[in-house]
Amino acid sequence: MTDCLFCKIIAGDIPSTNVYRDEQVTAFRDINPAAPTHILIAPNKHIDSVNVLISDDEQLIGHLFIVAKQLAAQEGFAEDGYRLIINTGQLAGQTVFHIHLHLLGGGPMKHPMG
Ligand code: 5GP
Ligand code: ZN
Repeated sequence: MTDCLFCKIIAGDIPSTNVYRDEQVTAFRDINPAAPTHILIAPNKHIDSVNVLISDDEQLIGHLFIVAKQLAAQEGFAEDGYRLIINTGQLAGQTVFHIHLHLLGGGPMKHPMG
């Protein structure tokens, strides 16, 4: 998608601090971190949000979580704890409509959510 911010980041047209990339997903540091470590993991192909997922996407979405747990270990907080979030739609605070998994860690999380 030519007008999608994350498609541009994934294509390398907008600079980002990438921490992981494979043929399915790219992970990069959030520009406005909400935790000591805040990484976004996004599919390389454009998908607007969870609302438009189809069954063919199951493996891809599972892969986002496998990459997230690997990055949590790599960043050193897998055992201490971390939070994974996918905001969906306006009221949940989704601002970039290219599906992405937030990985937040490196400190205590505020709770309860919502
Ligand atoms: P959402 O609100 O859609 O769940 O998450 C979008 C996230 O993208 C936000 O946490 C925001 O800080 C991050 N973000 C917005 N623009 C950029 C950018 O240009 N580069 C990076 N690395 N992150 C961005
Ligand atoms: Zn996109």
